[in-house]
Amino acid sequence: MPFSDLAIDLETRASLGLLRQRRTVTTSQSPRIVVDGKSYLAFCSNDYLGLANHPQLIAALQTGAQQWGVGAGAAHLVSGHFEPHHQLELALAACVGKPAALLFSTGYMANLGVVQALVGKGDSVFADKLNHASLNDAMVLSRAEVRRYRHNDVAHLKTLLSQSTTKRKLVLTDAVFSMDGDLAPLPELLALCEQFDAWLLVDDAHGFGVLGEHGRGSWAHFQLPNSPRLIYMATLGKAAGVSGAFVAAEKVVIDTLVNQARSYVYTTASPPALSVATLASLEIIKNGDEKRQHLRRLIQQLREGLSDLPWPLMPSPTAIQPLLIGDNQAALSLSERLRERGIWVTAIRPPTVPIGTARLRITLSAAHTTADVEQLIGALHELAG
Ligand SMILES: *Cc1c(COP(=O)(O)O)cnc(C)c1O
Repeated sequence: MPFSDLAIDLETRASLGLLRQRRTVTTSQSPRIVVDGKSYLAFCSNDYLGLANHPQLIAALQTGAQQWGVGAGAAHLVSGHFEPHHQLELALAACVGKPAALLFSTGYMANLGVVQALVGKGDSVFADKLNHASLNDAMVLSRAEVRRYRHNDVAHLKTLLSQSTTKRKLVLTDAVFSMDGDLAPLPELLALCEQFDAWLLVDDAHGFGVLGEHGRGSWAHFQLPNSPRLIYMATLGKAAGVSGAFVAAEKVVIDTLVNQARSYVYTTASPPALSVATLASLEIIKNGDEKRQHLRRLIQQLREGLSDLPWPLMPSPTAIQPLLIGDNQAALSLSERLRERGIWVTAIRPPTVPIGTARLRITLSAAHTTADVEQLIGALHELAG
């Protein structure tokens, strides 16, 4: 069999509790999903504001499709750049207080594109060890020299920056770490970048829409000074409830991306109707203080309710609340036993997280009720007892 070694690799993965499998959901995204004919209370989407299935977004997507059709039909630099893309870029730039913004089809592509366009051979990239896989892949692809610093360790980063002799330096960090839920010390990171003449790329996939005044993101949460060396990236498929991503920065950075970011240049533009829906989403985000307040209350309720379990909650102030289990099989088994009780929480295992830190990644959404959170707290206590 020409693929026998692939089968052996898969069997090895399975024996280590590392096999990844998909489940088909037969309802739309919400705290109640149906999988294999059974209904579950789910705590594993990144739909933090409950917008993925919001009637105003659905209506906007329908209107957008009526006016602009379905496919963009071409790349942005050919004939695929439409008025809704343009309007959305203007709105996003204004929302995050930057001179310009550029839409990408996904966050993964945005990170690949930015890093590869801004640095290359002879340059240096400095990256937090717990950054998202897309930032890690981006730095390898860029061919710049890679230096990784210990998670959120500003002193370590300072040492690495002070030792560097390269002219172009780019620091990469998640703003909210996707598997831990904690925040990067953005003010300190930015100050170091000022000191060592480096650029700072902040990936705010889990902060945009949720953190800061009007949900403008982690930079607003920290009230960062408006620095041109900060390059801001966020995704539109999480709290914004649609799909895609954007980078906001100085105009010269954005123009460079339009010319050099291969994952922007060599791909079909996203459907313009998605931009129409995202514009509707931005309005709801701007006026979404009540949703964000509700979400904060749920986070507090969960943390208080789970404080006496045998498994520690990781120290996170955000909607990502990981319960640290450690062992892969133990994490899988806890996830399975929750599922038997009608609750869906995914187990996250290496290599997505470091070995020995398998966890249940609980995520909360403003679409959850306090009764939903109470049900999860109750089930976890039963399973611990
Ligand atoms: C989800 C995520 C991405 C990728 O975004 P997609 O739009 O899903 O491709 C990038 N960075 C972080 C930190 C993420 O959590």
